[in-house]
Amino acid sequence: CGIVGYIGNQNAVPILVDGLKKLEYRGYDSAGVAVCGGGAIDIRKYKGRLSVLEQRLNEAPLSGTLGIGHTRWATHGEPSDQNAHPHAGGTGDIAVVHNGIIENYQQIKNELTALGYEFRSETDTEVLAHYIDHFYEGDLAEAVRKVLGKIRGSYAFAVVSGKEPDKIVCVRKENPLIVGVGQGENFAASDIPAILEHTRDIYLLDENELAVIRKDSVRFYDLAGNALEKKLLKVDWDA
Ligand code: GLU
Repeated sequence: CGIVGYIGNQNAVPILVDGLKKLEYRGYDSAGVAVCGGGAIDIRKYKGRLSVLEQRLNEAPLSGTLGIGHTRWATHGEPSDQNAHPHAGGTGDIAVVHNGIIENYQQIKNELTALGYEFRSETDTEVLAHYIDHFYEGDLAEAVRKVLGKIRGSYAFAVVSGKEPDKIVCVRKENPLIVGVGQGENFAASDIPAILEHTRDIYLLDENELAVIRKDSVRFYDLAGNALEKKLLKVDWDA
């Protein structure tokens, strides 16, 4: 299972797919990408190898300078196109990729279903997407923070919103996530090799830290929303 995120000036799709290939060693049963071009989010996700995703993307290309990608190792819900990530939230403005488990997802799912949210998968992850939509009041990072106050479990996840197409918000707890810094472009990934072709400047996200990644900046926060200073690391090895 793996996560890759990109924001910059290039088309995100090949960068996401190549990054996911470098994470194949982590194992997976399905793969997908969400790309934001011109405000709308497009999601492609399929059961099977990355070559299935690649073939579909060749047949019907996608492009956009903001995107997130995922390889899934199913824990809740069988491997299927529907259960593959990214998962859309609300009316489709939000897309989420997640590694890990949301332990109290059933209770949240009941709560959100009662509020009228329609679930399209059997995953624990989909509650994240709808919950972020539910708490959204114009600030994606703030909505994510509110969700973090409600969920239990282990996770690394990345979120994009068509309403704020200038950023990726990501967070981690008991699952790995790193941020890569480029020139006019930035990255997120489960592990360094996924982005080493693009940059050697890395931030290691610590437990319960949230990152707001824009193409020209990366900011870090604790769960209360206080800004954090972090040290940029230089990777001096080759994958
Ligand atoms: N629990 C999530 C699912 O089953 C994420 C699995 C993963 O870590 O890839 O969809």
